Amino acid sequence: MNLYRPEEECGIFGIYNHREASNLTYLGLYALQHRGQEACGIVSSDGQRLYSHKSMGLVADVFGNPEIFRNVPGDSAIGHVRYSTTGDSVSKNIQPILVNYSRGAIAVAHNGNIVNSQLIRAELEAWGSIFQTTMDTEIIVHLLAASKASSLEERMVEALNRIKGAYCLLFITETRMVAVRDPHGFRPLCLGKLGESYVVASESCALDLIEAEFIREVEPGEMIVIGRGGITSHFPFKKVKPSHCIFEHVYFARPDSYIFGKTVYLVRKELGRQLAREHAVDADIVIPVPDSGVPAAMGYAEESGIRFELGLIRNHYVGRTFIEPAQSIRHFGVKIKLNPVREVLKGKRVVVIDDSIVRGTTSRKIVKMVRQAGASEVHMRISSPPTSYPCYYGIDTPNRKELISSSHTLEEIRRYITADSLGYLSHEGLLTAVGGDKESFCHACFSGDYPIGFPRLGPEPQLDLF
Ligand code: AMP
Repeated sequence: MNLYRPEEECGIFGIYNHREASNLTYLGLYALQHRGQEACGIVSSDGQRLYSHKSMGLVADVFGNPEIFRNVPGDSAIGHVRYSTTGDSVSKNIQPILVNYSRGAIAVAHNGNIVNSQLIRAELEAWGSIFQTTMDTEIIVHLLAASKASSLEERMVEALNRIKGAYCLLFITETRMVAVRDPHGFRPLCLGKLGESYVVASESCALDLIEAEFIREVEPGEMIVIGRGGITSHFPFKKVKPSHCIFEHVYFARPDSYIFGKTVYLVRKELGRQLAREHAVDADIVIPVPDSGVPAAMGYAEESGIRFELGLIRNHYVGRTFIEPAQSIRHFGVKIKLNPVREVLKGKRVVVIDDSIVRGTTSRKIVKMVRQAGASEVHMRISSPPTSYPCYYGIDTPNRKELISSSHTLEEIRRYITADSLGYLSHEGLLTAVGGDKESFCHACFSGDYPIGFPRLGPEPQLDLF
């Protein structure tokens, strides 16, 4: 395991004060399935004690049997969906993490990545802490348990002041639920209400599913405590400039979600429009790489006046190809997932829109597929800049050496993916299309500007393409 590699992409959901808490958490997790597909779990409270059910697998597989909900009774619950890179896909690492300590029981669900976790873990282990998992999240509960502060809120603040990185956290105790978003606000988190119940979720699409009303986004650096007496908001951390993950808008979040003050779908369409302004081409049709490229392709088609078509059809029963941990599976993935519509593509000059190129594997296979289906020209357009730097804040990107654009020119990448032309959205164009305060985004994966530092690894070997 690499010391500074992120290990997780995740989604979190919680509901307080509802007699069907676990059922609704199951539905919330279902809506957040795109954020993590390897494992999931729910911890509930009946006011006296906490209950847990978690397993490897998709939400529908783990919680599909109604009998399961007997294991997680009560009127409050938190849940988690998780994807981890190879090696850490073991059942002990499934969240929420539930512990009993001197002051009772507590469980935590985490979305993000803590960049100084290994250092704190080493320190805690030197003091005698015994870790049950390899997850960075576990250090939070150790720090909580070690704190001498009297109230839960104070213990949380003391623990969280030690950690650096990206975190949206949901805690549950016998009687309370606490939501915390890190001061940079890397990952999205929102607050909703369903009757008298409060709901917290990574993305607003989870509130929509259970027909909860969207109240607002949890602010960067905010801690929301929900208890029998109602809800209180605190800002216990030093204020810093926000660093919302721009890649959530580009790819990761669901298009029907409202995050960082915008609806993702509209942002993606604008990315496509901007892409058309920057990289126009004479062509007959614009097609998306479904599903992630669809809104951007619609924007590109609208702006360029070139007809939008569905030239590739996706099998919806296959997960995100990238999320398959083994390289061999990913290579197969593109064919398993996508099939060309020959009558649409035959003899056409085609613009293909995708949101990003990571290793180049997907684009290469898609260009080949579109050409084999009869396209006379294939022009690849990407609705984000080259992904040249790994993310250390909770998006799973490979090591720098595997990122094709970290070591290859535009022309080399074009040749590798065998497209007639290739155009990426510019950095400035990305920020303009996303809109709002340009300073409030983390775009480290595109720019290498990391808002929170970490020790850099030495030079890495380059990806050999040809
Ligand atoms: P690659 O074949 O490695 O170039 O992967 C590019 C494809 O992966 C694009 O179609 C993206 O939509 C998708 N993608 C980009 N980043 C991620 C990520 N962090 N997790 C899952 N899929 C991703």
